Amino acid sequence: MTDRREQLAANLARVEKRIASACAAAGRERDEVTLIVVTKTYPASDVRILHELGVRHVAENRDQDAAPKAAACADLSLTWHFVGQLQTNKVRSVVGYADVVQSVDRVKLVTALSAAAGRRGRELGCLLQVALDAESGERGGRGGVAPGDIEELAAAVEAAPGLRLDGLMTVAPLAGPYAGRQRAAFDRLMEFSSRLRGNHPAANMVSAGMSGDLEDAVAAGATHVRVGTAVLGDRPRLG
Ligand SMILES: *Cc1c(COP(=O)(O)O)cnc(C)c1O
Repeated sequence: MTDRREQLAANLARVEKRIASACAAAGRERDEVTLIVVTKTYPASDVRILHELGVRHVAENRDQDAAPKAAACADLSLTWHFVGQLQTNKVRSVVGYADVVQSVDRVKLVTALSAAAGRRGRELGCLLQVALDAESGERGGRGGVAPGDIEELAAAVEAAPGLRLDGLMTVAPLAGPYAGRQRAAFDRLMEFSSRLRGNHPAANMVSAGMSGDLEDAVAAGATHVRVGTAVLGDRPRLG
């Protein structure tokens, strides 16, 4: 356990340095970027260590794993982000622990999230997940709303009781014109973010960048980076 703590502390320090360097290179303040550690496939004991090391934002992508983990860490002050493709039959469970759902990509999901948030009497933050490869019709199957449908979905979230429109999220696409061009992809997301903020000024979160491309995301202007393997280590394949 002590070894694990040292390992996580060293990894976290390395990631912190990368973010700080990327901010400096982009002329941004370090506190403009929030680190979200993606703890999927790793145990609650790791979440606990990360919390001791100062992490306050964690993310999960599968409800089956996330629900028991969040319950085991309910005593910790953590913000839980849900970042995976979300089926409506899991919404009720997810709303039980998630503070922010980053993968909102269709009106049907908005309706379900709103109903579940209402039942619990709480407000849930929502990011619209943008499928940048949908513009070219080469969707890679990672979910997300087509760029042309962002405003309609944003309006649905804004009108839904219990939901708060926080901004946009993307995963760098594996297909289409942005495949392998992370910086261009994140710049494109920033254009959509500017457009969104024209109508919804409070929706200023931009979640982009993972272990392999967080520098590109920070350079483009991301406010949140989602880092898994660089902090926790390589995941077993099935995750
Ligand atoms: C797993 C995951 C991440 C983290 O990816 P790493 O490459 O491990 O840093 C970020 N975002 C989403 C949506 C993920 O599913």
